[in-house]
Amino acid sequence: MGYIEPAPLLDKENPFEAMMSRFRVASQILGLEEEVYNVLKSPARQVIVSLPITMDDSSIKVFEGYRVVHSTILGPSKGGIRYDPHVNLDEVKALAAWMTWKCAVVDIPYGGAKGGITCNPREMSAGEIERLTRAYTSAMIDIFGPDRDIPAPDMGTGPREMAWLMDEYSKTRGMTVNAVVTGKPIVLGGSLGRTEATGRGVMVSALTAMEKMKINPYKATCAVQGFGNVGSWAARLLSERGLIVQAVSDISGAYYNEKGIDFEAAIKYRDANKGSLEGFGGAEKIKGDELLTLSVDVLVPAATEDVITATNAPNIKAKLIVEGANGPTSSKADSILNDKGIVVVPDILANAGGVTVSYFEWVQNRLGYKWEAERVNRRSDRIMKDALNNVYKTSQEYKVSLRIAAYMVAIDKVAKTYKYRGGY
Ligand code: GLU
Repeated sequence: MGYIEPAPLLDKENPFEAMMSRFRVASQILGLEEEVYNVLKSPARQVIVSLPITMDDSSIKVFEGYRVVHSTILGPSKGGIRYDPHVNLDEVKALAAWMTWKCAVVDIPYGGAKGGITCNPREMSAGEIERLTRAYTSAMIDIFGPDRDIPAPDMGTGPREMAWLMDEYSKTRGMTVNAVVTGKPIVLGGSLGRTEATGRGVMVSALTAMEKMKINPYKATCAVQGFGNVGSWAARLLSERGLIVQAVSDISGAYYNEKGIDFEAAIKYRDANKGSLEGFGGAEKIKGDELLTLSVDVLVPAATEDVITATNAPNIKAKLIVEGANGPTSSKADSILNDKGIVVVPDILANAGGVTVSYFEWVQNRLGYKWEAERVNRRSDRIMKDALNNVYKTSQEYKVSLRIAAYMVAIDKVAKTYKYRGGY
């Protein structure tokens, strides 16, 4: 009897497969031995916990929490925690592996991990989110640690959640351990520059790539998908560097203004409107996915995974895509963009500014010292520029896309380190 293939879910791609297909290509070009390939593709540890939480109406709801440590070959594992209704093990596994490659590309001494809780923080009270965060921390007490696994914010979490995590961990250990988590509020040992770090890294990557492509930022237009921490900072900083950011979007839709969006106004509006741009008057409302195919020079997907697909890639008009989100482009779209000559600065490089400043935060916590914002920005800008130049050089040498080159740089570093350290 013939095997019946399950019908594909439109052209949606499983994020772990999206990561693996690039990993396979880069490993082949590098000539990676099969044994090492097998080591690097398998997550070191996958933890799933059930978290029963008393809700404000006194009912008890059970949430599912995850932490996947993909690799600790380069050092303690590092990566954010996501609160979102779509969180699932496959997504967390992919995001954990991306953290390994990301830390390796920017050459910081961390492995990769990611965590998540399947929940909708938009529909929960602060008290419910606090109890959930503390329960999750307590369940992960033997996983986390400043020398083991260091969480940080991701979609749906921020400094507030990191403060609760740090406090819960510290209580169990009987002392204040601020280096267990990054992205904390400044008063708790957070680093200056951490909030804007990912968006700033996106801006630096975009400008460095534009310089190579001879695109004048003062004559360039841009569209940014996503108006959370990464998107809003990237948009603001790019416009400060001369680009006209004509469109931004969030889950309520996309907003277009040919002359450029007024960010002060948009951010103020969003903050006063429960985090949503719905009803923002400074622009014309267009369909959410229309933003991706606008006639702009630079496109910054800074929302979520799998938004540039084989279906819409043929209609993309931007010359340069800078991936603020993790995994925004499906692997099937890669070749379409390549054939069209569109340059893509991949996620594991373009959004690495966040984890880079997380690393600085951890260093400062361990030194018991505070750096000025100027030092943080100067050092992270340098790291981002060097990483881009290094990946660019590899892409020229092997005649591959920046994405495959970034994977090659990362995999090569982790594989070499693994060989020195050895296994059993
Ligand atoms: N969640 C962010 C990322 O995907 C930051 C991770 C970190 O700072 O550890 O890169």
